[in-house]
Amino acid sequence: MRTMDQSVNGINMLGVKIKNRSSILYLIYRSGGISRKEIANKLNLTPAAITLITTDLINEGILVESAVEQNNNRKGRKEILLDINRKKYATIGIYISTNKFQILCMDLNSTVIFEDTVFTADCHKKSSAILDKVCSILEHNLIYYDIVRTRTILGVGVSVKGIVNSRAGVSINSYNVWEDNVNVVEYIQKRMKVPAILTNNICSLAHGESFFANMEHPKDMLFIKYGPGVGAARVFYQDTLSVFDFNAIQLGHTIADPNGAICECGNRGCLETIAGYDAIERNAANILSSKLTPYLFSYTDGNAENLNIKNIIKAYNDGDKLIEDILDRSIYFLSIAIKNSMCLFDPKSIILYGELFENEKFRKNLYIHLSNYSGYEKVTFSGFNLQLETQGPASTIINYFFENGGLIDIKD
Ligand SMILES: [Zn+2]
Repeated sequence: MRTMDQSVNGINMLGVKIKNRSSILYLIYRSGGISRKEIANKLNLTPAAITLITTDLINEGILVESAVEQNNNRKGRKEILLDINRKKYATIGIYISTNKFQILCMDLNSTVIFEDTVFTADCHKKSSAILDKVCSILEHNLIYYDIVRTRTILGVGVSVKGIVNSRAGVSINSYNVWEDNVNVVEYIQKRMKVPAILTNNICSLAHGESFFANMEHPKDMLFIKYGPGVGAARVFYQDTLSVFDFNAIQLGHTIADPNGAICECGNRGCLETIAGYDAIERNAANILSSKLTPYLFSYTDGNAENLNIKNIIKAYNDGDKLIEDILDRSIYFLSIAIKNSMCLFDPKSIILYGELFENEKFRKNLYIHLSNYSGYEKVTFSGFNLQLETQGPASTIINYFFENGGLIDIKD
């Protein structure tokens, strides 16, 4: 029988083991090939400990060795480097939004094995029908691409908008994707027999950002996503970081104009009622004419039903004055929301993500507005616009695998 002290010790020993394995895995992953000696130096662990842990990781098939010529005068001497067995694994990312989902499977080189966009209007927003469709398509592809037989599936990362209890795996309020309180993780784990993690969509984008930008543990970051709505995720931690430590912030529902339009959340004048794509499209539709908006008029054949953010941005670039006014108003309120977030959260860095930031004129104008405020130099733009919707949840699974030292199993 174990005494209390021993079991506490046992837990501590396991905790240390996982932490060391986790640090080694992250370091090797980020370096893309590194010697045991260098690992020992960088992590401040003894060479004996490194040998012990990496031998385990090789035996488990997580690490592989490769020999490379040493870059010095001693000809013929080879150095042994360790790398993650990147092609052995597959990770799956799913982004579920209103009436569609996107699905992606990739290996640990971030090489995409398959991806798909599936429409779900026929599911009538019933979670059971949507999740059944998600899993059926996943099962089909995993067999079609011979993944079940040839690789180890690390898990399924799922992202959905709205309020999520990530630790419980429950989508609490998705604002119209499906009903309230859907236990997504339970459904997927039961059916697919692989680990699953559910996160709020912005938190999942932020996971992807920190993962793909190789950020050394983003201890203190605010990630803001713009388009079609506005949302943010905050990560702030002291000691160890987990994929569950990202908090969603409903930035789009902060009030910008108390007398403004009614928002889907029920309040009036939220930032989204000014800067959201729906609002921009509505405002553009109101003034669409050959006289007032000649460029947009020609791109849409004068038909408001053909309006979308792409042709609005095109007209903005080409110089439709009234379209510029609409977007400048969005930029103005967006910059205020960013500045207010800086005051509220005081993050070390702020990263802006979204397709409109790919547009030079839009980005430049936003930056001009931001530069009126102190602290604007903390703001940077993501280099992964439009990629992280599915790569984000896929990277959540990789992060989860690494942070648990390569020891993950389905929770019962
Ligand atoms: Zn709102």
